[in-house]
Amino acid sequence: MPYFDVIKKDSSSLARNGVIHTSHGDVNTPAFLPIGTKGTVKAVTSEELKFWGAEMILANTYHLWQRPGDALIYKAGGLHKFMNWKGPIFTDSGGFQVFSLAKMRKVMEAGVLFQFDLDGRQEILSPEKSVQIQANLGSDVALILDDFPGYPFEHERSVESIALTKRWAERAQKEFLNIMRHGDPINPGQKLWGIVQGASFPDLRKQSAKDMTGLGFEAFAIGGVAVGEPHEEMMKAVEAAIPFLPENSPKHLLGVGTPFNIVQAVARGCDTFDCVIPTREARHGRLYISAKNIPTPTTPSRFANHPSLTGGEAPHLSEITAESFPLARGSAAEGGEGVVEGYKTIDIRLEKYKEDFTTIDETCDCYLCLNHTKSYLRHLFAAGEPLSTRLASMHNLRFYLNLMKKIRTAIQYDYFDEMAANYRDYTGAAQSGVER
Ligand SMILES: [Zn+2]
Repeated sequence: MPYFDVIKKDSSSLARNGVIHTSHGDVNTPAFLPIGTKGTVKAVTSEELKFWGAEMILANTYHLWQRPGDALIYKAGGLHKFMNWKGPIFTDSGGFQVFSLAKMRKVMEAGVLFQFDLDGRQEILSPEKSVQIQANLGSDVALILDDFPGYPFEHERSVESIALTKRWAERAQKEFLNIMRHGDPINPGQKLWGIVQGASFPDLRKQSAKDMTGLGFEAFAIGGVAVGEPHEEMMKAVEAAIPFLPENSPKHLLGVGTPFNIVQAVARGCDTFDCVIPTREARHGRLYISAKNIPTPTTPSRFANHPSLTGGEAPHLSEITAESFPLARGSAAEGGEGVVEGYKTIDIRLEKYKEDFTTIDETCDCYLCLNHTKSYLRHLFAAGEPLSTRLASMHNLRFYLNLMKKIRTAIQYDYFDEMAANYRDYTGAAQSGVER
């Protein structure tokens, strides 16, 4: 069986539906990976994640290495058992947090010398060490250690970055094969993915993509984005890398992003995403809600009940008729009755929600939206109740996971271009997180 199957290609963009086959189950793409930084997606249980539609989660190697340590997790039987998440797990190399959180860091040929932020302990994160830790965690997807220069992007520094990333990739690959063949890995089905660097310089992204492909990786992450650059720079980086990676390989966009960024990156051929936005923003009272409206609701039920809008299971192709599947495209153009999708964010802590007894998001089926009002959630935030962040996190994660389901359905039934047109940058304050 191939590692990745492309199921359906969009006719108007590079978007596609696919399936990644891992040793802990399949991942339907495009997919969003909730971030379980320290072996937990903050405030949410594994069962809830599964229930809300998460298929793969991301765990941070740096944090787990620091505490409780990969040796302890190996003893526990690997991260899947330790945190009781039975689905696929994606781990990063640890490099991003070394660059963003460590007290001190020095990039050397051997690796990165740094000091942990918790206790000041000095360590060297080498390409081999990163692979060893991830093997002990037993994730399904492991990433090579990469070097990235950060923002603002400088060409000369980026030239060094892709060269060093290539040399580190060779060493990571060698160590990975050694562990898989001669070691005692927790997860013998683990795959090591390459990373494409090169900032937003097309020549460097192309070279880095060719380097990674030349090394024989089957899957790739695009790194060095979501570090404070404008949206256009991020998309430029994606556009420069994608054409030089094998079409039938899964591609992850690291640390991205807002719903707008995700939809735009899907259109450019990215398959999986991870970002702290849904959970981090939830803890600050910012909620992502559907901006869907039905201008003249003479036939609203057809739209309102469509599975792509409600998050339900999509009907089988054979069940689709013109009547059961009205496209937003035709209806909107013809009579102004179309569903206008997209999204917006609200700050639930604002005074204006104090006596607002309406539901947070009428189109959402999360526990919060089914059971509570804006007024109640605002009260929980005002009172500093822990339930506030828990309910808000569950809602935002459900929003993101539903978004991915809507994207997959839109690609499946050929209306992804209309959907994408409705997802603009409504969020303002929300940026792709640098604290992955
Ligand atoms: Zn909700």
